[in-house]
Amino acid sequence: MTSFAAGGGSPVIAGSAEAVRTHKLYKRFGQQVAVAGVDLVVPRGSFAGLVGPNGAGKTTTLSMITGLLLPDAGSVEVNGVDVWRDPVAVKAHVGVLPEGLRLFERLSGRELLTYNGQLRGIPKDEVAQRAEELLKVMDLTGSADKLVVDYSTGMRKKIGLAAALLHNPEVLFLDEPFEGVDPISANTLVEVLQRYTSSGSTVVFSSHVMELVERLCDWVSVMNLGHIVAQGPLSEVRGDHTLNEALLDLVGARGNGEEGLSWLGSARA
Ligand code: ATP
Repeated sequence: MTSFAAGGGSPVIAGSAEAVRTHKLYKRFGQQVAVAGVDLVVPRGSFAGLVGPNGAGKTTTLSMITGLLLPDAGSVEVNGVDVWRDPVAVKAHVGVLPEGLRLFERLSGRELLTYNGQLRGIPKDEVAQRAEELLKVMDLTGSADKLVVDYSTGMRKKIGLAAALLHNPEVLFLDEPFEGVDPISANTLVEVLQRYTSSGSTVVFSSHVMELVERLCDWVSVMNLGHIVAQGPLSEVRGDHTLNEALLDLVGARGNGEEGLSWLGSARA
């Protein structure tokens, strides 16, 4: 059963212990199978990491889960609701920071948040208050009236995250949220996300920074070549190893013919 509260208050989608469950999710681009029948599971309230080498299929999987990319086959449930059967209902309850984030470049940061909030049906005063609080937390108050087109990479990530959080979603999906973000801002993002999950909400994020995944996540899914190769509580997935070592074991360290680079760094004629 599904019941929705307007304006991002306290929506309730009852009946599922999992925030995300995909069933044999599949996507092919031409001859390239990007996602080859993925069963991804994320328990509710988790701080979950999606990891794997370049081209493993993480972004494609996240895009299908968040309603941005139509799967060729398979299904996705977010908090028990089928994403592709009822995309509008699901989108009301998720926040997304996609890869290659596209923003309304000619709006200021504050206008962007205001516009997002109004699109979500949040009352005007509430939007204004939430926007100011988010700008402050993200250390963007001083740049709130600057156009987004003039934001740096890290500032774009932060305003994108603020926009994704504004309607207080139940599940937040972040594709490499820390990429290009300075260490001080990264700490801020971590604090915001930890506070968010401590209230029972779910975060699913992809990252190549294993130390960060290890520090933040209680649940990890490892992808390689379009498949989930390991999934579960962090402690189980990494065993007695670091997550980095576990990843190398699972995926296999690749010999890429570095020995062929004998000329590199050798004395020049
Ligand atoms: P990275 O860590 O480098 O971001 P990823 O795990 O997110 O990688 P994807 O971006 O999902 O991987 O890509 C998975 C595979 O699908 C890759 O082989 C990629 O080249 C291919 N692919 C992804 N998007 C497209 C597209 N729009 N057209 C063609 N091929 C694509």
